[in-house]
Amino acid sequence: MPYAKEVESEIEILEDPTESLSTKGSLSNYIEYFQDRFRRIQRILKNRIDAGDSGTITQALRAPPNSKVKFICMLMEKRESPNGIFLYVEDLEANTKVFVPSQNLDLYRKGQRIVLDQVICISAVKGKSGLFIANDIVYPDLPLRKPNKATLPIYAALISDMHVGSKMFMRKAFKRFILWLNGKMGNRRLKEIASHVKYVIIAGDIVDGVGIYPKQIDELEIDDIYRQYDAAAKLIREIPEYIEVILIPGNHDACRRALPQPAIPREYAEPLYEARETYSLGNPCMFSLYGVKVLVMHGRSLDDVISTVPGMSFERPDEAMKFLLQCRHLAPIYGSRTLIASEPKDHLVVERIPDIFHAGHVHMMSYDTYRGTTIVNSGAWQEQTEYQREMGHTPNPGIAPIIDLQNLKILPIDFVSGI
Ligand code: ZN
Ligand code: FE
Repeated sequence: MPYAKEVESEIEILEDPTESLSTKGSLSNYIEYFQDRFRRIQRILKNRIDAGDSGTITQALRAPPNSKVKFICMLMEKRESPNGIFLYVEDLEANTKVFVPSQNLDLYRKGQRIVLDQVICISAVKGKSGLFIANDIVYPDLPLRKPNKATLPIYAALISDMHVGSKMFMRKAFKRFILWLNGKMGNRRLKEIASHVKYVIIAGDIVDGVGIYPKQIDELEIDDIYRQYDAAAKLIREIPEYIEVILIPGNHDACRRALPQPAIPREYAEPLYEARETYSLGNPCMFSLYGVKVLVMHGRSLDDVISTVPGMSFERPDEAMKFLLQCRHLAPIYGSRTLIASEPKDHLVVERIPDIFHAGHVHMMSYDTYRGTTIVNSGAWQEQTEYQREMGHTPNPGIAPIIDLQNLKILPIDFVSGI
């Protein structure tokens, strides 16, 4: 009997936006939303030794010339000049301009990396003309710490972006993954690991959807959303019953587009709900497995981070995920490709510190550890699309990262060539 069948599952939902979402966003909500974002990240910054003594912009404006000031603010606009970067920032009551000189190369690079709507702490000297000259920019970031670990030898399989319904869905490879979970594939060691898998976590884009991008219809094998979920349900049903399946929506699923997304509505994904018991949660969400905190998001905002922040690439989505942890926000840039709903509470602030941070969307399996957190982008099960070809993006689909909850180490298994 598989080990994971004998042990009791231990899952606690810590955060799920599904029940608390409002339906429409008005302008007053927009203001409320940003104030809430500011306050939540301000709280995180205030807990840092180097930002705990920060004041407000108003206090800094009142300070005499040549004095040192420190304040928490949100970046509203950024202008680069040959001598440095001008940051236009504001807090809840005032706004001002900060100059980041290019002579201080480390600081200049930090200035280049910050993105609009990000909340940071700035240390500066007040110049004679009243202009603030930055000498440090502090991110809320993660504290260095030891992560929580499970006390049992239990594994979780992290997957995403199946895109069932697409002509490029890799049915064969995915079937191998299912066979492996069932103990019917792989060498002795891999079979042993499979028998310890208690969780399959799917970070969105379960189906390819319909009408998601222009001419998608040419790339669809199944052009009906219900039948797509039906096909996905047939696959998910084959995951052994003792394994818990946790899933969230992605931008291709039948769900509202704006973040945070509630769990995929039953009316569109009935077959999925009928197929087996699942934990169907919103995007993003957080839960703990044997005390290990897992933060899951689909990852639409990774597009914005990769295209905005210098040094980022689609080959290393884990780097962009690390950036989000440094910002303590899952979609800092507002009004770009990532739609954000103006909820009164900003569900995208990373308040609790995750032990595992799992996302998908970029179709590139990559992972890393950052300040005790294991960052995983779980790749995809869809072959390169026409769009990706045009963008020059070569994904590495069909590889499932398996995580050992006892030590948070990743074992990637390649199901494309057969195991
Ligand atoms: Zn996808
Ligand atoms: Fe996606």
